[in-house]
Amino acid sequence: MENQKIQSVPLLDLKAQLSDLREDIVQAVTEVIDSTQYIMGPKVLALESVIADYTGVSHAIGVSSGTDALLLSLMALDIQPGDLVITTDFSFFATAGVIARLNARPVFVDIDPVTFNLDPEHLEHVLKTMSEEEQKKVKAIIAVHLYGQCADMSSIISIAERYHLPVIEDAAQAIGAEYMMKGEKKRAGTLGTIGCFSFFPSKNLGGVGDAGMIVTNDEQLADQLRLRRIHGAKSEYWHEVIGGNFRIDPIQAVVLAVKLPHLDSWHQARQQNAEHYTALFEKKGLGQIIPPQPVYKAQGLSNYHIYNQYMIRAPQRDELQKFLTQHQIAARVYYPIPFHRLECFQSLGYPADAFPASEQASQEVLALPIYPELTDAMQEYVVEKIAEFYRNN
Ligand SMILES: *Cc1c(COP(=O)(O)O)cnc(C)c1O
Repeated sequence: MENQKIQSVPLLDLKAQLSDLREDIVQAVTEVIDSTQYIMGPKVLALESVIADYTGVSHAIGVSSGTDALLLSLMALDIQPGDLVITTDFSFFATAGVIARLNARPVFVDIDPVTFNLDPEHLEHVLKTMSEEEQKKVKAIIAVHLYGQCADMSSIISIAERYHLPVIEDAAQAIGAEYMMKGEKKRAGTLGTIGCFSFFPSKNLGGVGDAGMIVTNDEQLADQLRLRRIHGAKSEYWHEVIGGNFRIDPIQAVVLAVKLPHLDSWHQARQQNAEHYTALFEKKGLGQIIPPQPVYKAQGLSNYHIYNQYMIRAPQRDELQKFLTQHQIAARVYYPIPFHRLECFQSLGYPADAFPASEQASQEVLALPIYPELTDAMQEYVVEKIAEFYRNN
C-alpha cells in the first residue's frame, strides 16, 4: 500500500522547493557577487517594485527582517518611550517585542477563537475602559494576520479611525492573502497604514536568510521609512532623525525575485492540502479535531487563506504531538505561551486569566505539515496516525 512507504513527514521541505529553482537562484546570486554591489542598488529597487505590484501599493521598502520591518514602522510613526501600542496577546514574539524595545508599552487584546486574530470587540472594550489619560498615550495598533488569514480589518480600522490611530499590519505570515475591504479586493499589508512582511525561510515567500519588506500608500511615511532604514541620514553624515541599519541584502532581493512568480501557485497547493486534510478528518470521523476555518472563502477570493500554517485545535494536544513525533511526523505549537504570561512581560501586570481565548488557543493549537510539495500519501499517513492516537487515548 502507498501509505506504508511513508517513513517521515517534515514540517517543511525547502529542498523540494529549491530543486526546480536552484539554477536560476544560483545564477542570480552569482550576478550579485560578480557585480560587487553588495548594499542596496538596482536589485533591491527591482524587488521593491515587484512586491509593490504584487501587493498593490505605491511604496515598498526592503528591510533586514520581518522584525525590523515592525520596529522601523514604529520608529517611522515616531513611537516614544511611555507610549502605548495595542496588539494581540497571541502571536510570534516579535509583534510585541518591538514595542517594548522602543520603551513603549504593549497593551494586549484577546483573540477571536475562530480565526486566532485580534478580536475587534475586545479591542473596542480595551480602548473604552482606559482612563482618558491612558487613551491619549495610545499611538498605534498592530494587527497580525496569523497563520496566513487576514484579521477582521474592516472592524479594526473603523475602531482605529474613531480613535485616530494608525494600524500596522504584521503580515509576516500572510503575504498575498486577500481581504474584501468595502467591496474591494485587497491584499494583506495594504489594508491599514503600514504593512510588514517577513521573508524568513519558512514563510510562504522565503529568502536564503533574513529579509523583510514594508509597504504603504502614504508617501510621507515611505520617506520616513527609507530615511530611518539608513540611520536617518538625509545626506551623507547628516542625520535628521535616529534610525538604524535596516537594509535588505541584494542577495536576498534576487532570490526572492526568482521565487515571487511562483508564490500564488504555492498558496494554491497549500489550500488544496488544507482541504484534503479537512476531508480526511471527516472521512476518519475525527470530529474532535477542529480544522482551521477559512472564513473569507465564501467571498470568492482566491487567496482567502494562504496557510503559512495549517493550525488545528486538538484535545490532549501535547500527548498527540509527542505521539506524532514518535512516528517521525513534525507537528509544532505556535504559540505555547500567550504574551501576557511571558516572563519578560510580567511587569505589565496582567493577571494569568486576562485573555481566555488566547490562553485556550495556546493549549490546543497544533500545526500540521502543509507545505506545497506535501503529497497526498503523506497527508493520509499524518491523519492515520492522528486517528490511531485517539483510538488508543
Ligand atoms: C516571522 C514573524 C515575524 C518576524 O519575522 P522575522 O523575519 O523572523 O524577523 C513577525 N511576526 C510574525 C507574526 C511572524 O510570523
